[in-house]
Amino acid sequence: MTEMALQTARHLLVRLGHRSWLNARLAQARSLAAIPAPPLPSCLNMHARTLSSAKDIGQRENMEMSQPHPKLPTITVASVSPNPSTAMLHVYWGEGGMDEFPYVWLRDNCQCSKCFHPTAFSRLMLVDTLQLSVSPTTLQVTDGGDVEIQWSDGHQSTYPACWLQERSFKPTQQLQHEQVFRLKRSFWGSELAENLPRASFTELMEEDMALLKFLQQLEILGFTVVTEAPRKIGQLESLSKRVGYLDRTHYGETFIVESKPQPSNVAYTSDSINLHSDLTYNYQKPSIQLLHCIKQFPGKGGDNMLSDSLQAAQRFRSLHPDKFLTLANTMVEFWDKGKDNEKEFHIINRHPIISLDPTDDILTVNFHHMSRHSFFNVSVEKVIPWYDAMLTLYDFLLDSKNCLHYKLKEGEILVVDNMRVLHGRIGYKTIQGERLLEGGYWDWTNVSSMRRILDAKLGVTYD
Ligand SMILES: [Zn+2]
Repeated sequence: MTEMALQTARHLLVRLGHRSWLNARLAQARSLAAIPAPPLPSCLNMHARTLSSAKDIGQRENMEMSQPHPKLPTITVASVSPNPSTAMLHVYWGEGGMDEFPYVWLRDNCQCSKCFHPTAFSRLMLVDTLQLSVSPTTLQVTDGGDVEIQWSDGHQSTYPACWLQERSFKPTQQLQHEQVFRLKRSFWGSELAENLPRASFTELMEEDMALLKFLQQLEILGFTVVTEAPRKIGQLESLSKRVGYLDRTHYGETFIVESKPQPSNVAYTSDSINLHSDLTYNYQKPSIQLLHCIKQFPGKGGDNMLSDSLQAAQRFRSLHPDKFLTLANTMVEFWDKGKDNEKEFHIINRHPIISLDPTDDILTVNFHHMSRHSFFNVSVEKVIPWYDAMLTLYDFLLDSKNCLHYKLKEGEILVVDNMRVLHGRIGYKTIQGERLLEGGYWDWTNVSSMRRILDAKLGVTYD
């Protein structure tokens, strides 16, 4: 641990009222000098600051508010399950209540330096040494409050109380981790046009808290508008350096959207474009889209439409369950053929219009009317019912309960979750070059990673 990291940890924990614990920890860390210190138990960082999803977005003072730290958990008794067939450790908490932890899971997640690498954050124990039937031969709660287990495979493991409590299999505790994985979404309709989520380009470039708020908006609402970016090419590249990387596609690292002769994409015309997710024809469509408005068409038209397709698809599902299943169960071919950046492409991929995860939750809506192939690999009697379902869904997508209109101003960057929010364009009549945007993509992999890094750095947690 470097001196700077120690100071940062001291600052954070002193604020949380753990001075004596911290001093002991710092002394220990100093004495270990060059040995990489294990990460601080993250339950000690819990509730440093809290944010209750969408309702607190934009209320920075709420995020700055320190809250008293809850008492550290204590274990009164750890015992093997009275029923040997369940193969569970029972942990009885000093604060009341009991948690069960399966032996095989505990052994798999031993945190000792032979089983888990403390700086690579990675399991070292090989999977073929893990025995499904592993069980404790001895078990005790140490004076320090940890659970120490001697296993039937000869290994010994130690589990701190807070480590166990954070990993409780109870639904209430698992909900806490859910927001580390992904912030809870907040759905919207046309009313949001009056109060668009915004972020200042200058602040994003300079302030971590502004960047975190922007990433939260993107995760919770599915889009945001960055304001006051310089009106010239290259700003997406600058902004991307604060977040991660640009996601290169066959249209380049970034691309210019303007009306062009012999366009390689319908975006490069002045025509109206239906609501769609970008590059739906890719094997995996890019997950976040960026559009920097450098020059806006001053006349009528050129507005963007944005639709919260996850909300629209949920409403569609509840009112038309059969049509929903038709779209979820039919593979549709999307394609893109042409030449850009001096390279030819001929892309074909198949996706259902509505992709579901294994728990039947909606993952994404793959809507791209312009690039849907005329080849349709279904039996002929399924064609008309599919069109019926698709057109019904489109009515939901366009409905003001799920859709808003906004005309970007020059210097604004629209950032859209391409997995959730469909976008379209109202056509405009122009000669070449009167509306100019630079586009690019990000991947949620890097973007939500940066949100978690900033959460930890700034001590933000979520209810
Ligand atoms: Zn181990």
